[in-house]
Amino acid sequence: MPCFLCENKDTSESENFMSGSHQYNCPNCGKYEISDSLVEDINDGPYITKIEDKGEKRVRSSEVRFKAACIAAERKLKGQDNYFLHQAERQFDKENGIHIIDFIMDFPENPLEQFNRALLNLGRLTENNPFQAIQIDENKSNILFLREKTQLSTMILFFEDNQYIKIQTDLSDVSECCYIIAVTPYGWERISELQKYYKENSNKAFLAMWFDKTTDNYRKAVKKGAELAGYQLLIVDEAHHNDFIMNKVLNMIDEAKFVISDFTCVPEEDHNPKENVKVWGGTRGGVYFEAGYAKGQGKEVIMTCNDSLPSGKRRHFDVDQINTIFWKEESGKVITSQGKVPLAEYIKERIIHSVGKGAFS
Ligand SMILES: [Zn+2]
Repeated sequence: MPCFLCENKDTSESENFMSGSHQYNCPNCGKYEISDSLVEDINDGPYITKIEDKGEKRVRSSEVRFKAACIAAERKLKGQDNYFLHQAERQFDKENGIHIIDFIMDFPENPLEQFNRALLNLGRLTENNPFQAIQIDENKSNILFLREKTQLSTMILFFEDNQYIKIQTDLSDVSECCYIIAVTPYGWERISELQKYYKENSNKAFLAMWFDKTTDNYRKAVKKGAELAGYQLLIVDEAHHNDFIMNKVLNMIDEAKFVISDFTCVPEEDHNPKENVKVWGGTRGGVYFEAGYAKGQGKEVIMTCNDSLPSGKRRHFDVDQINTIFWKEESGKVITSQGKVPLAEYIKERIIHSVGKGAFS
């Protein structure tokens, strides 16, 4: 089966009966899972809707599919694939679940943003090998956010007019555009400026934490708090940590405006090594590493910790002196220890006061 979003035929696909969804692995879009009911809604049209407190967001199904294919292609280049697309109104069980309307809200808002992000994507294609010439053909139209494949040559020529790229060979024929291009030193300079701009104006936040069923409600509360403050919260499930995922984590922190680090831990004796639970040391080395990495970039790090003996006591001396939000759970509600305010509300206020309101909604 071709990719549902971009129709690339070199795609592998499998059905997940448990969650009523299909998983795709596409050369353009990367890995993603999509619920069968969303596929039906997109195919049947005419609109996909999302009900929100402020009202209803409604987008044409054809538009949803086009924009989703572009965002998926960009996320693949950023190492941010592996998510579950759905249109369910309720809070979704799957941690990597994204409502399709939220997903496509990331689409460039105007032509200039489109042009800038397309250039960033061209840079990402060759960032490990900057002077490598790359082939740009109609398969790449999604990373350039182009509605019509025929717009490809216009955009490539604009990039060349601005001296951001050099067309080395034009292999286009009557029916298809195809260029071999390389990013120029001037193009890399522009890419570096844009990266800085997008980091400073990011609507994204990163959550560094220990993933466990005991921190599930905490995670939901923080996600809600970040969203109320206008930020999209990026989370990587630590269960799949390896070197590749670590790159992903660092990319996400690079892209985030600020980081929330939770220093909750458990007593090591509770854990059985046979279950491969990597918490024998009790404290979460990864959380410290990620918080330090963010701090080193001058980003605000909001620190939280479960208000229990092992967690509070085991925090390292270095972070012990930093203002930390202690939280606890009381009858299923996550609240702050002092003042007993819902954690989501408290986090929202802390974000707005320390980093300002985000534009994500
Ligand atoms: Zn695809």
